[in-house]
Amino acid sequence: MTPDIRDLSWEELTAYLKSARIEPFRAQQIWQWIYPKGVWNFDGMGNLPKDLKERLKKDFLLGPFAVDHKVVSEDGTTKFLFDLHDHEKIESVLIPTATRTTACISTQAGCKFGCKFCASGLGGWKRHLSCAEIVTQLLHVKEESLKHPRPLSNIVFMGTGEPLDNFDNLMKAIRIINSDKGFNIGARHITISTVGVVPRIKELAGQGLQVELAVSLHGYDNPSRNVLMPVNRKYPFDELIAACREYVRLTKRQITFEYILIKGVTCTPNAVESLKKAFKGLICKMNLIPYNPVSEFGHQTPTRQEMLAFRDSLEDSGIHATIRTPRGKDVNAACGQLRHQRQNQN
Ligand code: SAH
Repeated sequence: MTPDIRDLSWEELTAYLKSARIEPFRAQQIWQWIYPKGVWNFDGMGNLPKDLKERLKKDFLLGPFAVDHKVVSEDGTTKFLFDLHDHEKIESVLIPTATRTTACISTQAGCKFGCKFCASGLGGWKRHLSCAEIVTQLLHVKEESLKHPRPLSNIVFMGTGEPLDNFDNLMKAIRIINSDKGFNIGARHITISTVGVVPRIKELAGQGLQVELAVSLHGYDNPSRNVLMPVNRKYPFDELIAACREYVRLTKRQITFEYILIKGVTCTPNAVESLKKAFKGLICKMNLIPYNPVSEFGHQTPTRQEMLAFRDSLEDSGIHATIRTPRGKDVNAACGQLRHQRQNQN
């Protein structure tokens, strides 16, 4: 199969040009057309000679995804469902707010982790996304962001799939996103959200990247996390917290814990006590995510008052916590919801 040019790292692109006896400065021109300028074909690369365009067309693919579905929420949140070459469907979201414009990107088609509140796992796992498929989502979201006042500034890997389970493609994509010749988005504006794959957290610490790490904790101790997240049987609560402590020590970066608020399950006084013990001496913040109902699970979202009380008791215990504002509720913007809904229709 013809490779996609967006699967090439900077080093791989320059190596290709060298082996094809093409001047090295063309690499910068090619990347400039693909990433900052966002052209979708080689013919649009104005300053390349015709024979080079023909050569690139023969050697590589470069094009947009087929858009299966696009929905714009009242709050401007825009959700895409893309139809990939093998008809796997993936979701990406543009989230414009008053202070920043964020892209939420998927890393796998489906998910193998089966968390008991998340729509992404319901249809099972299909495959990893390639580096090209990761950055192409961003090209689409970036193009869409031009309709909004603020340029695309932040990326969160919080779409379908587990980013750290697709480690090599994720790292390659992040280097393109981060590169001043690529998307030029600062590492501190890139967030990787993980279900808690302990060995990969350690590996990430060794990458020398200043990216933000968000860990989906959701349980407050081992038994509660076992119930909600099957991955906890492989990487238990205490091992995960220990890996997070090590990550903070090695990278000198703070960690964010994501914590889902489910009525009567995670949002309880004993949860606060347990979290206080677990986080002792660890510099971190908690992002409290109101549960976005998925009918298959039968959980309930706590009332606003219950959520505020939970946040306040965490704060009183010395744990910095904020409640995430839900966005795009009217467009099924929670993880995997649109994909799941469309799969069930077909
Ligand atoms: N696999 C990664 C990233 C994808 S999920 C991870 O687990 O972190 C992104 C975030 O959305 C996670 O914190 C996930 O737990 C949360 N999430 C999934 N389903 C949700 C739901 N129904 N309501 C609220 N948050 C949800």
